[in-house]
Amino acid sequence: MPEFDLIRRYFTRPSSASSGVLLGVGDDAALLRPRAGCVLAASTDTLVEGVHFFAGAEAQALGHKALAVNLSDMAAMGAAPRWALLALTLPRPQARWLQSFSRGFLALARRHGVHLVGGDTTRGPLSITVQVMGEVMPGAALRRDGARPGDDIWVSGEIGGAALGLAAARGRIKLAPADARRCALRLNRPQPRLALGAALHGVASAAIDISDGLLADLGHILERSRVAAHIEYADIPGDAALARASATAARAAQLAGGDDYELCFTARRAARARVLAAARSTRTRVTRIGSIEARSRGWPDCVVFDADGVPLPQLPKGYDHFR
Ligand code: ADP
Ligand code: MG
Repeated sequence: MPEFDLIRRYFTRPSSASSGVLLGVGDDAALLRPRAGCVLAASTDTLVEGVHFFAGAEAQALGHKALAVNLSDMAAMGAAPRWALLALTLPRPQARWLQSFSRGFLALARRHGVHLVGGDTTRGPLSITVQVMGEVMPGAALRRDGARPGDDIWVSGEIGGAALGLAAARGRIKLAPADARRCALRLNRPQPRLALGAALHGVASAAIDISDGLLADLGHILERSRVAAHIEYADIPGDAALARASATAARAAQLAGGDDYELCFTARRAARARVLAAARSTRTRVTRIGSIEARSRGWPDCVVFDADGVPLPQLPKGYDHFR
């Protein structure tokens, strides 16, 4: 199939007048009009075969996940996603694969009002890069550098299910069938917390999405805000399957497992009621898991306490491509 037919058939959809798309797929660049008063939030993420997903992974789930991980960055910024670009490198164009991939991608895009406005299609080892652009009022964006000592630390949803799903897919652990299905869904079909991110405007002091592990990602907030954290391990909300896993596996999944795409955010103690209202209005579970502290020399930036108030001696590390 010629490249242009492929692009037209699988990746070109009409966009409505309210989409802000003056010119979409088909020219040298898309022309986009952000809403008056908003700034652009732009972000990109790549999925590489053998690194981010197994060879032979289901195409529809890949299409979903490639966009979902990018939308999750918009959620963590408190931005409303509007447009996406898709750079696709394929070993060979297969109609069935492209049909499923674009279905997964475009279904999630439609659900969140995102328009695919361009991209690039090349031959090579399977790799998927998505760029997403969204809008946010300047000053309302949820940055990483706003956490202050005394703030609460919160997470959305449940943490650790995706890591169990990954361990099971690798054959490292065995899960009961129902647990395996749920954890595989968490791994393969993450749901970006866009509504919660938007509802946290003026409520959260800092936010990040959990892609590389809770401690690793919280660590970015601590670094950028120049603060430390105390975490209560027993308060971290987990998938029910964690209770049936070994303590070591559960700890690694919750503290260092990536791929959950939940939000980790901080907010002033005085904002507790507003955090809970944001959670209720978006039907999202949120849980307070600890507090932001001042940094002190000779102490680690992040201390995780067990149920008896004793610091965990060794903390598992999150994912780092170059470590
Ligand atoms: P150029 O040579 O100018 O880079 P291309 O031939 O790569 O143009 O792409 C032609 C048009 O199709 C462009 O508008 C581009 O944005 C769009 N496009 C290419 N690949 C994709 C894709 N996978 N999904 C969506 N749009 C795409
Ligand atoms: Mg091109």
